Amino acid sequence: MTASSDGASFTGPAFSTLPLADHVLANLQRLGYEQMTPIQAASLPLALAGKDLIAQAKTGSGKTAAFALPLLANLNPRRFAVQALVLCPTRELAEQVSQEVRRLAKAEDNIKVLTLCGGATMRPQLASLEHGAHVVVGTPGRVLDHLERGSLALDALNTLVLDEADRMLDMGFADDIAAIARHCPPTTQRQTLLFSATYPDDVARLAARYLRDPQEVKLAERHDASRIRERFYEVKESERLHAVGLLLNHFRPESTLAFCNTKQQCRDLVAVLQAEGIVALELHGDLDQRERDQVLVQFANRSCSVLVATDVAARGLDIARLEAVINVDITPEVQVHTHRVGRTGRAGESGLVFSLASMEEMGRVGRIEEMQGRESVWHPLAELTAAAAQDDASPGPLRPPMVTLQILGGRKEKIRKGDVLGALTKDLGFDAACIGRIDVNDFSTYVAVRRDVADAALRGLNGGKVKGRSVKVRRL
Ligand code: AMP
Repeated sequence: MTASSDGASFTGPAFSTLPLADHVLANLQRLGYEQMTPIQAASLPLALAGKDLIAQAKTGSGKTAAFALPLLANLNPRRFAVQALVLCPTRELAEQVSQEVRRLAKAEDNIKVLTLCGGATMRPQLASLEHGAHVVVGTPGRVLDHLERGSLALDALNTLVLDEADRMLDMGFADDIAAIARHCPPTTQRQTLLFSATYPDDVARLAARYLRDPQEVKLAERHDASRIRERFYEVKESERLHAVGLLLNHFRPESTLAFCNTKQQCRDLVAVLQAEGIVALELHGDLDQRERDQVLVQFANRSCSVLVATDVAARGLDIARLEAVINVDITPEVQVHTHRVGRTGRAGESGLVFSLASMEEMGRVGRIEEMQGRESVWHPLAELTAAAAQDDASPGPLRPPMVTLQILGGRKEKIRKGDVLGALTKDLGFDAACIGRIDVNDFSTYVAVRRDVADAALRGLNGGKVKGRSVKVRRL
C-alpha cells in the first residue's frame, strides 16, 4: 500500500487526531508543534498502529518526530533496558536525533536517551550504558562495537529505526547494520522503521531483509517543488565564481550553503567572495574540531552569509533556516544533488536553490531532470548583471546582520549564557534585541551582536566584567 499526500501546503491535520496520550499532546503543544508535517501525517497513523514503515523523507521534513513518537509510544519507562535503537549515518545527525527524541520524551518522566558515536571516548559511553538507557541513538560502527564487547544488549528492543538509510549504505555501513540486526529480536517481535531520502535498489534490498510487511509512505516530489525554487544558470568556467557573488547580491539570502565539487574550488570561491566584501567561510576536512565549531557557530548565529563546503565536509550538518543552496558545480551524482537541494526549504519554509552549469555539465543536468521528473528552469546570468548595473541605489555587498564576538573563557571558567547577556544588557545597557545567539564552549564563548552595535559591545565587554572578572574579547 502506498500512502501519499500532495503536501501542497503546510496545514496538515492536528496531532490531536492521533492516538497519543494527553501528556504527549500537551508536550507537543508546548514545543509549538500543532499541525503535522506531510511526512508525519502520512506515517504516524501507520507507525502508531504498529506497522513497519518505509518512509521516503529528508531532513527538514519533520521525519525525526515521525519515528520518535512511535518509538516513545512503544516504551515502558519503568523497564530499565534499551527498548529502541536509532541508527544514523553521522555523529552530527545522531546528536540532533537524540536532542529531538529528548524534547519529545519530556512528556514522560525519566526516559534516558543515550548517544553512541564513534570519535568519542569509550569510557563515558561505557559508564552511561551501565546506568541504563531506554533509547540508544548511534552510528553503526560504534553501536556494533558495544554489542560485541557486551556493553550493550538489545534483547528488550521493540523498535529499530534506520535513519537516512541511503546515506548509511553510501557510507559502507551495510555489513555493520546486518551484524547489529543479528543482535536484535526477530522482525516479528519488533517494529522496524526505515527512513531514506532516496529509494535506490540497495535500500529496497535492506528493507526486504529487515522489515516485515512494510507500508510505504511516499510524498509526491511536487511538494518540494512548490516550496523550493530551483533555478539553473548557464555559465562559462571563467564566470562561475563571480556568478555566485551576483546571485548573493541579487537575492540577498541571509544564510547560504554553497557546494563545490572540490576543496580547491571551495578555497577559490571563498577568496573571490571575500574580495567582493561578502562574509564567506570554508568548512573543510583539515579544520580541527575547535576551528570547525567556530565556523559553524558563526554561520548559525548569522554572522557569516555563506558557508562553502564539499559534500563530504557538509555531511551530517544540520542547519536550521537556510535560505539558499548554491550548486557552484553540478555534482556527477544525482543523489548528491537531491541531498544538497534538501538542505533548504525545511519544515514548510521556502528555499532557493541555484545551480550553475557549464556546457560540459549539461549531461549531469539531464540526469537530474530525469530523476526529478521535471524540466529545469533556466535563467540567463545577464539578468543579474543587468539588474546590478541599473540599480543606482545599490544596497552594496550582502552583509550578515550579526557579528560574532569571542570571549576568551567558557565553561571551564564557569561562564554561562546568562552572565554574558547580563553583562551586555544590565551592565552595558544594550537592548536585548541587539544580542543574538550565545554559544558557550569549554574555553571560549561566542556572542552574536547586531552589526551596528558590534564595536561598542566589543569596547564595553573589554572594559567591563563578565561574572565579576575582566575578560579578553575579540571580534571574529
Ligand atoms: P527534522 O526533519 O526531523 O530534522 O525536523 C525539522 C525541524 O522541524 C525540527 O527543528 C523539528 O523540531 C521541527 N518540526 C518537526 N515537526 C514539526 C511540526 N509538526 N511542527 C513544527 N515544527 C516541527
